Amino acid sequence: MFLFKNLFLKPLSVPLTVTSNNGFHLRPVAQFASLAKSFSCQITATFNNKNVNTKSVNTLLSLSLEKGDTFTLVAQGKQADEALEALQQLFETLMQDDKEIKQIEKTAYSYEGLVIEGEIISKGIAMAPAYTYRTTEIQHQSEMDFGTALSRSIGELETLYRNKEKDENAAIYLAQKELLISLGTHCHTLRELEVKVEEETKNLRGTKLDAKKSDYQDILQRVKKHLGLEVKVTFPDRPFILLCNDLLPSEIDQLQQTQVKGVILKEISINSHTAILLRAAGIPSLVADTQSLTENEKIILDTPAGVVVQDPSSDDFKRARKRRYEDEQQKERSNTKRFEPAITQKGRHIKVFANVTNIQTAEIAKEEGAEGIGLLRSEFLFTDIKPSFEKQYKAYQKIFELFDDITVRTLDVGGDKPLSYIQIPSEENPFLGIRGVRLFKTHPELLEEQLHAIFLAAGNKPIKIMFPMVSSVEEFNQTKSFAQNVAEKYQLDISHLRFGIMIEVPSVLFLLESFNDVVDFYSIGTNDLTQYLFAIERTHSTLKADELSPAVFAAIETILNKATKPVSICGELAGNKDALPKLLDLGMETLSVTHKCIAQTKEEIRDV
Ligand code: PEP
Ligand code: MG
Repeated sequence: MFLFKNLFLKPLSVPLTVTSNNGFHLRPVAQFASLAKSFSCQITATFNNKNVNTKSVNTLLSLSLEKGDTFTLVAQGKQADEALEALQQLFETLMQDDKEIKQIEKTAYSYEGLVIEGEIISKGIAMAPAYTYRTTEIQHQSEMDFGTALSRSIGELETLYRNKEKDENAAIYLAQKELLISLGTHCHTLRELEVKVEEETKNLRGTKLDAKKSDYQDILQRVKKHLGLEVKVTFPDRPFILLCNDLLPSEIDQLQQTQVKGVILKEISINSHTAILLRAAGIPSLVADTQSLTENEKIILDTPAGVVVQDPSSDDFKRARKRRYEDEQQKERSNTKRFEPAITQKGRHIKVFANVTNIQTAEIAKEEGAEGIGLLRSEFLFTDIKPSFEKQYKAYQKIFELFDDITVRTLDVGGDKPLSYIQIPSEENPFLGIRGVRLFKTHPELLEEQLHAIFLAAGNKPIKIMFPMVSSVEEFNQTKSFAQNVAEKYQLDISHLRFGIMIEVPSVLFLLESFNDVVDFYSIGTNDLTQYLFAIERTHSTLKADELSPAVFAAIETILNKATKPVSICGELAGNKDALPKLLDLGMETLSVTHKCIAQTKEEIRDV
């Protein structure tokens, strides 16, 4: 435990590192502030010599914490230690669960009409007349004073949050509630709140939080409504594709009650709450500049292709209808057949396993129809605090219960993924340094504890244990004998467990004959393998290695030809539709893909 305790009322502190690619943004900050408020002690966050109160969303956001930033959480007063522990735990969960929203790749498609390109928010194909977003202002009698309107609005957001608690997007309402509390606290009139919102949104411009400006407008409108100044969106009573600059998150619920077929927005980020809610509602949506479109003209919105088609020909409509039909059929089929095996057109059964990062994703994988876990990234347990043996044991035990066939990868950190409690001398090229299995030479105690927890949690199950970043046979042999010594030390029988390696380092390709004698299985990690084949760092901001390059397939072919032990693939390439026919052609029998893509991958296999 990293709490620097003091029995007197001295402050306690803990360092917390932001690990989410999205940084510490509005939704997790709101959950954090909300928990902080449940403790009476003073809790502050310090970063870059700035010290802020963690109970206010706004002040916490003002630290602009990005991935890799470490701030210090300090608590002083009653229950300070409890507060720190609870906040630390919540922070770790928030970081782990915060999914990065990636740009969705477009599928090439051509239309005869005028094509307007856009950025995909949510996939689907729609055909309907365009309708421009409009609002009407309604003034009604209200006796309410500002203070009551404020607390009524906060109450409403709290209810929305509570009612949607099971919904993964419920935190949006909590975020708005906390935002309103922190902006409204020192305001006494509507005008003061308007000025505050104006100031704050101006400060957001050009920052990552710009995407949240509609939340600021949304909370302001909520308060205004209680004061008798209601702004109402009007939607037509027929099918339509909505054209708008932006939408407020609260308007999406209303939109869902209409005959909306699609939404085209002009000024919105794919990370905004509006975008998240549109995706969750399954409304085909695109970010595009639709200035040239006129009201009521019938258009095609083809978001998988990332386009709006103006003036479509009758052939365009036929094509779009066909595409929509195929799309719906595909979704329907993959959903209903998700628990069935994936059999190719030629009758081969391809096993579809899941890559998971924690208990929740393992549970989702099960529900999605995964046949096992091909890669359990155990790093999820190793956050800012070293996990105790018990914590590790319990987590593995829960996950191991879910499937019969499970591959757990031992800790793959170091290099680009530092851990605060391990000291590695700073390296010029961390991707070529002490990472993955190499860490165990310098920190054997970490591997010992992890293996002990895995062995115990495995019980009689033939769990597969996989070492990451192995580059030589000696390295594997040493790590495996280390594992055997751990088992002996704790008097555990591990004869039923299997030991294998990730193939991520090109040297392994030339050593397969020797590896065949010692390993029980292989799993190809194309993310790192591609990085090392092309000498292009996988996180490089401008360079990108082509994972579909013939060089990658040649490497896979070599592995499949030379390996005499089972081979699976768990890098991103396994879930790439364009790679699938080639992978199956080369003889790949087991794919391990991200937990949410199981049903879809199975369906794609059935078409090969
Ligand atoms: C890989 O390198 O392909 C892989 C699956 O491991 P990670 O992405 O976790 O490094
Ligand atoms: Mg890797």
